[in-house]
Amino acid sequence: MADFFISDLHLKASREDLAEAFSRFVEQHLLPASRGNTLYILGDFFDAWIGDDEDEPFYLGILETLRNWTDSGLTIYFMSGNRDFLVGEAFAAKTGVTLLAEEHLIALNRQPVLLMHGDSLCTDDTEYMGFRAQVRNVTWQQTVLQVPLAQRRVMAQQLRQQSQSMNATKAEDIMDVNADAVNAVMAKHGVTCLIHGHTHRPKVHDLAVEGTEAKRYVLGDWDSHGWYICANEQGLSLHSFPIEA
Ligand code: MN
Repeated sequence: MADFFISDLHLKASREDLAEAFSRFVEQHLLPASRGNTLYILGDFFDAWIGDDEDEPFYLGILETLRNWTDSGLTIYFMSGNRDFLVGEAFAAKTGVTLLAEEHLIALNRQPVLLMHGDSLCTDDTEYMGFRAQVRNVTWQQTVLQVPLAQRRVMAQQLRQQSQSMNATKAEDIMDVNADAVNAVMAKHGVTCLIHGHTHRPKVHDLAVEGTEAKRYVLGDWDSHGWYICANEQGLSLHSFPIEA
């Protein structure tokens, strides 16, 4: 029995191989549900999500896959990232996953562990933090969701291009987490273990939170390799595997 954590799969129709790798990963490591494993998806599961009324066959296929797994008894938790912040209750109802808030506490081996996507920790990127405040605003989201689906598709593409050109000119360390922001959120929740993704810099970091030894586990994005963290009675471990086309 183990808990598995993944993030930043950036699933999209042009990368069918990633969707297939995800299915294989779940079949190999988590299924059948009777094994009692749990899957945590920590944001940017989709490269873009324009609303729970999404009707493209590629996405409907993923929703159906998730539904089949949860119907079979597999527990799946889902946290939004900066690409799929429009995932909502209708998505949860369709797939059977349980949505998590952006800072979620769990217990692993009786120790509290904080789960986040990670983008809120990149406080050095003030331009992004401004964008984040806008797109996480409930009123803004409700307004956007009233725009017809086809128009939202165009908007999503524009947002992606905008963020790509914004990031192209930024120094590498600006887009990483800020150490003070990490310390503050871990101290706030009283944890010595944090798991997050977003930065695409998979690594296990040692740090001190208010004088206590702590660890920060960073998941990698799925591209040439898939990344996951496994937590069982032996502890936590970060793994990667090649993604075959
Ligand atoms: Mn992200």
